[in-house]
This record gives sequence, structure tokens and C-alpha cells, in this order.
Amino acid sequence: MLYKDLEEMKAKAEEGELDAIVQLGISYLYGYGVDKDYVQAFIYLQDAAMKNDGQAQLHLGKMYENGWGIKADPWTAYSLYRKAYNVHTSGSRKALSDLVDRLADEIPVTGRLTITDDFRITACCEKLREYIRMGRIAPFEDEEESNLYLVNSNRSTVLHRCPFCTEMVQHLQ
Ligand SMILES: [Zn+2]
Repeated sequence: MLYKDLEEMKAKAEEGELDAIVQLGISYLYGYGVDKDYVQAFIYLQDAAMKNDGQAQLHLGKMYENGWGIKADPWTAYSLYRKAYNVHTSGSRKALSDLVDRLADEIPVTGRLTITDDFRITACCEKLREYIRMGRIAPFEDEEESNLYLVNSNRSTVLHRCPFCTEMVQHLQ
């Protein structure tokens, strides 16, 4: 539910009501009915994002993407947008694809296909980078490490070699 009254919203957030926590975080982030406060926004949105709320993940991602009150970290934003997208949050698809466009531009084509746990990537060839831009190949994080995946509509599979130039995927620290 949406709270109209700020004091009620705060009281419900104190009680741990997830909707109220999210709404309060968004209110502080954009200055809706309160003074903009990135520290408060971060505290509430991070709390709700950890509880897997898609709206909170999306807006926390915006903070990381834009460096609002925190150091900009586009790959953390990417990871949050993906989570938001996985729970069908409205707006997350566009946020994700705009960001992937930008990130793909920043991936250097070095002839080696490498990925680190914090998603620094080098591409073996232009074609592979193009597939990242299109979202056909995407980096995801599982419990153990970050991997590149070939994205299919039903099931994504770990990529071990570039499908175009056959370069092996290497994990770097
Ligand atoms: Zn390649």
C-alpha cells in the first residue's frame, strides 16, 4: 500500500513494514514530501533490497549507477537491476538495457575473454561485445563467482568459450 502521511509511513517502517520502508527510501531519494537525503534513502532502500523488493533494488541501483550519495558503481547497479528485472519490476527492463548499452561501450576488446568477480570484463572480439550489448550474453553472479552466460528464453547456460572466436573464458582476481 502507499502511505500518504509521512509520520504513519515512518511508524510503519519502524515496525518493519516492507512497503513503508520502500516508500520512505524512495521519498528520501527524490525528495518527495521530505528533504532529499541520500543517507536515509540508502539505509531504507538497502534494507528493502536485501529483502528482495524489486522497487528498492531498482532505485538503489539508480543510486549506484549515478553515484547519488555514494561512489558510482555501475556493475553493482547492473546486478541490482537484474534482480529487480527477475521479479518483473516495472522500469527495470529499460534501466537494465540502457545500462548494458553503456557498459558494453566500456568493455575493451583485447583478444582475451576475461571476467573478474566484480564484473570487470575484457572481450576477445567485437562480436562477443556486441552480444553483451544485446543482452544475449550476460554476466551474472552466483554463490561462487561471476560468470558469463549465454542467455536463452528458457534457460541460461554458462559460457566456457566465445561462440565466435573460441577464446576460453578466464577468471581473473
Ligand atoms: Zn570472441
